[in-house]
Amino acid sequence: MLEKGHSKRANVKRGINNKMPYFGTTEYLNLEQSKITINKVKNRNSPNRAELLDTMVHEELHALHPNLREEDVRHLTPHITSRMTGKEKHNLYNKYADSKTKGR
Ligand SMILES: [Zn+2]
Repeated sequence: MLEKGHSKRANVKRGINNKMPYFGTTEYLNLEQSKITINKVKNRNSPNRAELLDTMVHEELHALHPNLREEDVRHLTPHITSRMTGKEKHNLYNKYADSKTKGR
């Protein structure tokens, strides 16, 4: 699913920052590595309960496909989340487990 693509970056770091003013951000560290940071508290406090999943998928798209424009990412995200299985969602949530930062 998210792993498919032409110009994907192989290496994505993921982390949590519950103090930043954004739901999520993606930084491009170099040509091969991106870093996603998610604000779990801000997403949890959102009135839209699907917000955290949407944010994670949105930032994964940015991280893996730097060539996608913001409007493309916004368009693609609901298509992806609506087709994800429970297991895929679980695996994605696990990438942002509080106690670890994976993807190194
Ligand atoms: Zn975006």
